[in-house]
Amino acid sequence: MALFDNKGKTSNNITVYQRSIDEKNSTIVRRFDEIGRLYYGQYKDNTIDVTKDINQRCEDVTRLYNEIEELNVKILFERGLKLCPACRAENSLENAFCPKCGAKFAEGSANAPASVIAAAAPAPDAPAQ
Ligand SMILES: [Zn+2]
Repeated sequence: MALFDNKGKTSNNITVYQRSIDEKNSTIVRRFDEIGRLYYGQYKDNTIDVTKDINQRCEDVTRLYNEIEELNVKILFERGLKLCPACRAENSLENAFCPKCGAKFAEGSANAPASVIAAAAPAPDAPAQ
């Protein structure tokens, strides 16, 4: 539908970002499951030390949370919004000050998020199926 070409592109980007967020959330659930199993294994047999394995997964979860946060910022940008750095309120991209808390936005805050995350790049450990 020609009438919606412009909006179509925007919502397509949002769909890609959202799909990536969904995948990352699934990976987080898997990591938590693995952490639970590792911990239980150690509880059953305290001669094994799974600290390193658990820490690896915790770091992975932290990385995934950060990536999801960045993707959420990108989705907001697609919708013409940005987050206040002080109070996290959604603001119009052109706002110089947050109407909720009065915080000043940094120069260039209306620019596209300079994220390094490839939009739909699958996680390195994504299941091959
Ligand atoms: Zn604010």
